[in-house]
Amino acid sequence: MSAMRTANLQISGMHCASCATLIQRSLSNAEGVAEANVNYATCTASVRYDEALTSSDRLIGIVKAKGYGAELGEDLQKAFAMQREEAEGFRRRLLVSVVFAVPVFVIGMVLMWLGIHVPYADWLLWLLATPVQLYVAWPFYVGTWSALKSRTANMDSLIVLGTTAAYLFSVYAVLFEPSLGQYFETSAILITLVMLGKYLEATAKARTSDAIRTLVGLAPKVATVMRGRKEVRVPVDALRVGDVVLVRPGEKVPIDGVITGGASSVDESMITGESIPAEKREGDAVVGGTINRQGTFTFRTTKVGSDTTLARIVKLIEAAQGKKAPIQRFADSVAAYFVPSVIIIAGVTALVWLGNAMGVSSALVAGVSVLVIACPCALGLATPTAIMVGTGLGARHGVLVKGGDALETAHRLRHVIFDKTGTITTGVPAVTDVVPIGVAERRFLSVAGSIEKASEHPLAEAIVRCAKGRGAAVRRVTGFSAVPGMGVTATIDRKRHYFGNRKLMIRHGVPLAGLDGRIASLESQGKTVMVLAGGRAVLGLIAVADTIKEGSREAVGSLQKMGIMVHMITGDNERTAQAIARQAGISHVFAEVLPEEKAGYVKRLRETGPVAMVGDGINDAPALAQADIGIAMGSGTDVAMETGDVVLMRDDLRDVAKAIRLSRLTMRKIQQNMFWALVYNMLGIPIAAGLLYPFTGWLLSPIVAGAAMAFSSVSVVSNSLLLKRARL
Ligand code: ADP
Ligand code: MG
Repeated sequence: MSAMRTANLQISGMHCASCATLIQRSLSNAEGVAEANVNYATCTASVRYDEALTSSDRLIGIVKAKGYGAELGEDLQKAFAMQREEAEGFRRRLLVSVVFAVPVFVIGMVLMWLGIHVPYADWLLWLLATPVQLYVAWPFYVGTWSALKSRTANMDSLIVLGTTAAYLFSVYAVLFEPSLGQYFETSAILITLVMLGKYLEATAKARTSDAIRTLVGLAPKVATVMRGRKEVRVPVDALRVGDVVLVRPGEKVPIDGVITGGASSVDESMITGESIPAEKREGDAVVGGTINRQGTFTFRTTKVGSDTTLARIVKLIEAAQGKKAPIQRFADSVAAYFVPSVIIIAGVTALVWLGNAMGVSSALVAGVSVLVIACPCALGLATPTAIMVGTGLGARHGVLVKGGDALETAHRLRHVIFDKTGTITTGVPAVTDVVPIGVAERRFLSVAGSIEKASEHPLAEAIVRCAKGRGAAVRRVTGFSAVPGMGVTATIDRKRHYFGNRKLMIRHGVPLAGLDGRIASLESQGKTVMVLAGGRAVLGLIAVADTIKEGSREAVGSLQKMGIMVHMITGDNERTAQAIARQAGISHVFAEVLPEEKAGYVKRLRETGPVAMVGDGINDAPALAQADIGIAMGSGTDVAMETGDVVLMRDDLRDVAKAIRLSRLTMRKIQQNMFWALVYNMLGIPIAAGLLYPFTGWLLSPIVAGAAMAFSSVSVVSNSLLLKRARL
C-alpha cells in the first residue's frame, strides 16, 4: 500500500459557505484523494491523499482551477492576516458602495416620495448604480462563474441573478420604455446591504478564532539564559533542550522545563484553567506561557519549538476547529439543494406574476426578493462558528476537545466510566499496613522493596518508599517480570518470589489458608492488599491505600444529576473497589478487570448507549480508543494528549462534567442557529413570492429582503459569539 499523507491548505476567496462545499466536492472527487474537509470559518482545507496518485501541488491546482486561492501550510499568522485582509476587502467595497448607493437612495426614493423631480433622474441613477454593479459586486460574479464552470449554482449566483436582473431591466426601461420604471436603487442598495452583511460577518468570524490567537500570543519571545555565571537574553526560538533559563518574579516562563534551583508559585490558569497558582520547587515541571509570581528560579528546558505544551495545544485546537461536526453535513447538503431549488421557485414566482395585472415590474420585484431572501448563508455559518467558539471556550477552561465530532457526541453520552487508580484516586498510594508472617519486618520489607524497585506501578513506588523509609536493605534481584493486573515476580537468593494479588497467588499455587479474614478486613477499608510469597510460602501482606481525589465525589454527583450513569473500572479486587466506589458515590463497579479486558467492558456497555471512558491514557489507551469519547486526564502529558478525544489539562474529575456541559451548550447553539437560519428562509420565501399579497396586499421589497438576509447571517455569528460568555 502506498503512503497516505495529509495536506493542510490555506484557501482564500471563499465568501459563502457554498464555496466551501464546491471546493470540498471537487477535492473529494479528485484522483487519489481519500478525504477532503473544507472549513469555511477557518478558510482552511485538510486533504488526505495518496502520495502515489497525486501531490499537494496538484491539489492546489484543483482549488485554483475553481477560481480560489490556495497555499500549502497552516501558518497561523498568515491565516490571521488573511482573515484581516478579507474583512478589509469587504470594507473597501462597502465604502465605495455606500458612496454611490446613498445618492441613489436619495434621488431614486426620498426625493421621489417627496414629489421632487430631478432632471434626467433615470440617467443619473444609471450612472451611479453602475460602479456598484460592476466593481462592488465583482466578487459575486467571480463566485458565480466558478460555480457555473462546475455546473452548480451557489449563494453568489442568487445575488448576481437578482441584482443583475434588476439592473438590466432598468437599463432596458431607460433606453426603450421609460414607462416601465427603473429599479437601479434596488440593485445598488441590495448590493450595499449584502456587502454590509459580509463585512460584519467577516469581522465577527475573525473573532471566533480569538481563542487560538490568545494562546499563540501567550508564547514569550525572549528568555534569560545562564551561560556559566553570565545572564544572556536570547530569542526563545534559539533555545535548545538542556539550556538553563532564569525566571524573575512577574515574568512569563518562556518554555517548558524542570526547575533546577529556587522556588515560586506559578499562575498556570492560561493552560490548565486552574485559577489557584501552583507551588513549584526543584524537580517540578514548568510550562511555557505561564506566569511566575513572587519567586525567582532557574530551570532546565525539556521541550522546544513545536514540542512545547503550548505549541501542541494550539495545534490540537486548530485541528479541532477544522474537523466538522456530523451535524454540519446536514447543513451542507441542505445548502447544496437549496440554491437550485430557489432559482426555480424564483422563476416560477416571476412567471406567475407576469400573468398578473401588475405585470413585468411586480414579477421582477417578487422574483428578485425570493432570490435574495432565500440565500442560505446563515445556514452555512451555523455550525462552524459555534464549534470554533465552543472549542475556544473549552481551551480557556483547560478542556481540549479534539474536533466537532467529539463535541457533538459528548452531548449524547449515557455512561461515563472512570478508571480507578490515578483517575478517581490520587494515584499516589501510601503503605498503611505491613504484616510479616513468620519473618522479621526488616527482612520482609527488604525483599518487598527490592522486587518493586524494578516496577513502575504506583503501588510499587509506595512500597519502595516505605521500605526505604524504614531502612530496609536493598538486595540483588534477577529475572524480574510484571504480570499486568496481577503483580510481579522475581528471583532473590535463587528463589522465585511472587508479589501481587490473589489471582497471582492462585496462578502460582501459593496457598492463602487462614489469611482470607485478614485480607478481607483490610480490603473492606478500601485498601489494596498484596501478598508476598517466596516459593510456596507466604512471607507477609502489605496494604496500600490510595485516597480519592478532592472533587471526585462532587464530579460523580454532578454527572448523575445530568442524567449520566457513572461506572468505575479497576484491576483491583472487588472489596477494595467497592469501598472506593462508595466513597466516590459510584454504584456501578467493574472490579478485577485485567488491563487488556477493559476495552471489552467498554464495548459491551456501548450496546446500551454512548460511553465516555476517563483515564490517564497510560495503561488504558485501548479502552479510551474503544469508547465513543475517550477522555484523557493528566495535565497535558504526551500520551494523554494523543489518546484522548477530549484532553483535560487539570487532574480534576469535575472537568469531565465541564466537557459534557460544553458539548451541550455548543450543540444547543448549533440547533438554535440552524433553526433560525432555516425558519427565516422557510417563512421568507413565501412572503417574498407574494403569497400574502392576495390577502394583505404585502409584497416584500427586495431591499427589505436584502436587509433580512444580511441580518440573519450576522445574528447567527453573533449568537455563536455569545457562547464565549457561557459558564461551564
Ligand atoms: P488499576 O486498574 O486500578 O489501575 P492494575 O490493573 O494496575 O490496577 O493492577 C491490579 C492489581 O494488580 C493491583 O490492585 C495489585 O493488587 C496488583 N499489582 C499490580 N502491579 C503490582 C505490583 N507492581 N506489585 C504488586 N502488586 C501489583
Ligand atoms: Mg491504572
